[in-house]
Amino acid sequence: MYSPERRREYQKEYYHAHTEKLQVRAKEAHRNLRRRVIEMFGGKCVYCGFSDSRALQIDHKDGCGHAERKATSKASYRWYQDLLSNPQDSKTKYQLLCANCNFIKRHTHNEVPGPKSRC
Ligand SMILES: [Zn+2]
Repeated sequence: MYSPERRREYQKEYYHAHTEKLQVRAKEAHRNLRRRVIEMFGGKCVYCGFSDSRALQIDHKDGCGHAERKATSKASYRWYQDLLSNPQDSKTKYQLLCANCNFIKRHTHNEVPGPKSRC
């Protein structure tokens, strides 16, 4: 007979017995999701065209992304799912930048946390 407690117990035992395999699987799922998000945004920095995904970042066009992330406190996996669920909306709010262009944009628009920050 089904019991929620027994099911939780089984899941706990399964997790402990297969921790490494499950962590590898979770990392792959996260990597695939990130790849899909990067593809959705065109696969390259909109400022300079850099396309190495290791240094690509999703930028909030209006700036102050860290404030939004702090307010919603979403894990990146959940945030990526949200971005993919509504591509049109995502593309109006966000863009793909390489790390260099993103940091330069932050400084240019006073988005760096601190006393002079506009965020
Ligand atoms: Zn760039």
